[in-house]
Amino acid sequence: MKYPAEMKLSPHFKVKEFTRSETAAKRGIDNEDVTPVQLANMQALCENVLEPLRQQFGEPVYISSGYRCPALNKAVKGALKSQHMKGEAADIYSKQGAKRLREWYLWMVDNLVFDQLIWETRPSGSKWIHVCYVTYRKNRHQKLQCKDGKTYQALDN
Ligand SMILES: [Zn+2]
Repeated sequence: MKYPAEMKLSPHFKVKEFTRSETAAKRGIDNEDVTPVQLANMQALCENVLEPLRQQFGEPVYISSGYRCPALNKAVKGALKSQHMKGEAADIYSKQGAKRLREWYLWMVDNLVFDQLIWETRPSGSKWIHVCYVTYRKNRHQKLQCKDGKTYQALDN
């Protein structure tokens, strides 16, 4: 189903923030076809994680990668069973820099229910947080870090 791009998932987050993708646009991949279940998963992620974070800090939470159809996930070399493909995950960043991103991370750890938070860094200097939330089982509150896109280590803060 194609939902309106401007449709709100929560007060500050729209469908298009989850479906737009530079890689999809470049490669002619249609990333806008979403099932009602995937839409509900994105809504749950917004309501339980992204919106509370947005409201706590009072500043935009940018999504660099939200929903990924299988073709897009393959194009970005995502994990085989990536939660992005179910609409359960988003990669978020702050325009205020790494220090603020760290504050977001610590606040979420202490205050929110989530399945996984992954503190992502790369040698290039880019940093983001992968967040995911599930509705079909208990959320694990797992905290991990990843420096290379392949290996994950537990992160205790
Ligand atoms: Zn991710």
